[in-house]
Amino acid sequence: MPELPEVETTRSGIAPHIEQQGIEQVVVRDTRLRWPVPAELAQLAQGRTVLAVTRRAKYLLLALDNGNLIIHLGMSGSLRITQSGLPPEKHDHIDIAFAGGKCLRFRDPRRFGCLLWSQQNPLMHPLLASLGQEPLDDCFSGEYLHQRAQGRSIPVKTYIMDQHIVVGVGNIYANEALFLTGLHPLVPAKAISPQHFRQLAAAIKSVLSLAIAQGGTTLRDFVNEAGKPGYFQQALNVYGRNGQACNRCGTTIRSLRISQRSSFFCPLCQNGR
Ligand SMILES: [Zn+2]
Repeated sequence: MPELPEVETTRSGIAPHIEQQGIEQVVVRDTRLRWPVPAELAQLAQGRTVLAVTRRAKYLLLALDNGNLIIHLGMSGSLRITQSGLPPEKHDHIDIAFAGGKCLRFRDPRRFGCLLWSQQNPLMHPLLASLGQEPLDDCFSGEYLHQRAQGRSIPVKTYIMDQHIVVGVGNIYANEALFLTGLHPLVPAKAISPQHFRQLAAAIKSVLSLAIAQGGTTLRDFVNEAGKPGYFQQALNVYGRNGQACNRCGTTIRSLRISQRSSFFCPLCQNGR
């Protein structure tokens, strides 16, 4: 599944090709995404200009001069820049062709993604309005995490994966950030010290930034015709390493289910709170 780093890399990969470019044609081959693609999409977008490509959580926002496109990649979606006129493959559901001959192509085999139109500020769209802080923004901090954790008994891992608190901390990143912080994933959020929350916020920023930086090297995957979305290979300390030795202390990595998600931790390194 595309996580926040893949979405951010997609944003930075496609933006230079389509910002300030005029939309010549919109072709929708299949409207049956997670929510139906608006029937009037071509009418709304053709002849308009893409002013900016931004991201909020895992949503990509294309600001046109008359409204906004909200795109989510779902479980298996990808966006690529191709040349206009390149024959579509089976799961290429939407093409947005630009005057300069480039085309933004949306592929989604499982069709859990979406492409929606918003006339108003997209940040106020029902899907986006109640989202928590962006982890890479300066305002996301240990103080913020500590403040919002007051009175909350849920496990810290569930807490940092709550999209109403902070967006884009997927399962891999939550596991890895907790390892770096030395926190057991089951510690109640309210029991964690301000000091540990500061370290946790820094670790979340660190694991996500590293993934985005690594994504930069595979950027061409998002802008060539044949490319499939590349999921970033990271050197992982705990995720998926159940039964293997901890890289730091040699203790056997353990796993358990928390909120229906696999959780991995080192019993020796992760005993703080
Ligand atoms: Zn360890």
